[in-house]
Order: sequence, then C-alpha cells, then structure tokens
Amino acid sequence: MAETKKCPYCSEEILIDAKKCKHCGEYLDDTLRPKIQLPETKVVAKEGCFLQTLNVGCIIIVVIIVVIILIGIIASLQR
Ligand SMILES: [Zn+2]
Repeated sequence: MAETKKCPYCSEEILIDAKKCKHCGEYLDDTLRPKIQLPETKVVAKEGCFLQTLNVGCIIIVVIIVVIILIGIIASLQR
C-alpha cells in the first residue's frame, strides 16, 4: 500500500508523492501552483486608490496655499 499523508488544505488522505491534491485540487508544490491567483492586484488597487486620494488631497492643499499667497499679494498691492 502506498504511503499517504494528509492534505494541508482539505485534510483528506493523499499519496505522499502527490503534487496536487485529488480532493480539493490545491497544489502541494508551490512551483507547480499557477500564478494566476496572486492577490497582488488587490494590493495594487488599494495603493492606487490611496495614491489617488493622496493626490486629490495634495491638489486641494496646493490650491489653498496658492489662494492664500494671492490674497497676500492682493492685500499688499492695495496699500
Ligand atoms: Zn486537498
């Protein structure tokens, strides 16, 4: 009888040499795992949103500073 081990994903008995679980379909060898299911896209999307909100905040701050400078220039010209 072939040696078996427990699948770390579904705890079903699988062959010790198995590269892929026959019960849940998970790859036991990371080198064989398809690189489609990387969660990096979500991280990138979050960073993009963060950067976008940061950019909007920067633009608002810059506009406020420019308005304050313009008000100062106008006030100094009216003396
Ligand atoms: Zn499994």
